[in-house]
Amino acid sequence: MNPTLQQDLRDIENILEQVKLHGIDFLNSIDTVPTSTQNSIDTTGNLNDSGIGSLAALEVFKQRLAPLMVSQAGPRYWGFVTGGATPASIAGDWLTTIYDPNAQATKAQGGISALVEFETINFLLQLLDLPKSFLGGFVTGATMSNFTSLAVARQWFGKQLGHDFAKEGITAPLNILTATPHSSSIKCLAMLGIGSQNFTKIKTIEGNREAIDISDLEQNIKNLNGQPFILISSAATVNTADFDDFIAISKLKEKYNFWWHIDAAFGGFAACSPKYKHLVNGWEYADSITIDCHKWLNVPYESAFYLIKEQHKNLQVETFQNSNAPYLGDPLENFNYLNFLPENSRRLKALPVWFSLLAYGKQGFQDIVENSIEMALQFDAFVSQSEEFELLAPTRLNNVCFTLAGDHNQEKVNLFLTHLNDKSKVFMTPTVYQNRKGIRASFVNWRTNENDVKIAIESLQETILELGIQ
Ligand SMILES: *Cc1c(COP(=O)(O)O)cnc(C)c1O
Repeated sequence: MNPTLQQDLRDIENILEQVKLHGIDFLNSIDTVPTSTQNSIDTTGNLNDSGIGSLAALEVFKQRLAPLMVSQAGPRYWGFVTGGATPASIAGDWLTTIYDPNAQATKAQGGISALVEFETINFLLQLLDLPKSFLGGFVTGATMSNFTSLAVARQWFGKQLGHDFAKEGITAPLNILTATPHSSSIKCLAMLGIGSQNFTKIKTIEGNREAIDISDLEQNIKNLNGQPFILISSAATVNTADFDDFIAISKLKEKYNFWWHIDAAFGGFAACSPKYKHLVNGWEYADSITIDCHKWLNVPYESAFYLIKEQHKNLQVETFQNSNAPYLGDPLENFNYLNFLPENSRRLKALPVWFSLLAYGKQGFQDIVENSIEMALQFDAFVSQSEEFELLAPTRLNNVCFTLAGDHNQEKVNLFLTHLNDKSKVFMTPTVYQNRKGIRASFVNWRTNENDVKIAIESLQETILELGIQ
């Protein structure tokens, strides 16, 4: 064995102890770690020949990188839709790394890791009150979950026309209908060879809404004259957390032939709260659903899962089967995740989720979800009553979409946001909503409390004063 590796192996206890101590330091100060940095690092350095060992590498990390790492997992990172990591999820993530299994088969080869994944999906279905008719698996993020689901939808579409797109390639144009898709679904259309321009945009409901207009949807369905199509719907939109009407869509499904996909990356967690569960009523009739765990479930990146109805199992295997390897056997007989999704070798991403669900249960996630919404509403209350800001849309769930008050300040919105973010107390992202420049604050982190909302509001007010915005 290489001598440095040998030394590390002898030192493993101390190495892990030092990493733990450093990690605890970070977690204990996460409230005061800046939410952004303007510093950068020189990335052109030379790789050393002989290696310095883990403890010395840890020193370099501490000196050079750690001071520049921002508090993205902290309570005031409200940009994008960014979750943190609960203690249980960190424990599960560490053990995933330590055991380092390759989560693939339910029999022999991979030990029980794929079964741990099955059990975790079973728990998630219970958390979200979804039926067992869905089969699920873990992928790196909602983008890959949308990709997996839409890839099977693509295969379904081909089959409706008597084609096997997985084998032949795409031999007929697809019909995709959607109202306010997340940008990642459009990226998936590009990756899947469907084409990012090749979708029909359905109108949204009149007024300040991003949800699909059901009568315009039905009109567009009729225009297809009985051709099959794929519907990409939202639970929820990232700007204003608006939900499509799933009861209405499920009624259309009784009349028309389509694959129904729901991107519920963060909004699916509305199902954890009796107060907000109605927003996803009817979603159980979808063919496929995308859900992120590294957002509202507050587990470390990269963690998301897809749910696809078991009745589509054959289409899923046709899409993803890795059957050229004879030792893998019949994909429908010998279950192996590599025949059901894009990756072959896979981290056991289910374990941090498994730990979290065992540790906190249904009540824990109801509390996280309801607290996030409560914090969003407190921030909304400040925006609504202030003279300097105005809401761009009502706060329906956990995202507050707002801007500087008055059209005369539209040109200053991005400048304002840059200054606010540079102060490093709170981080938010820019958006454009109904042709107006705006700002989004998304509440998903389990740590966020009233004091964080207060600190953020003070930072907003200071920025207004500094820039002399009126
Ligand atoms: C975040 C998000 C995505 C993309 O998720 P990743 O995990 O970043 O790949 C897709 N759809 C919605 C609605 C999202 O909020």
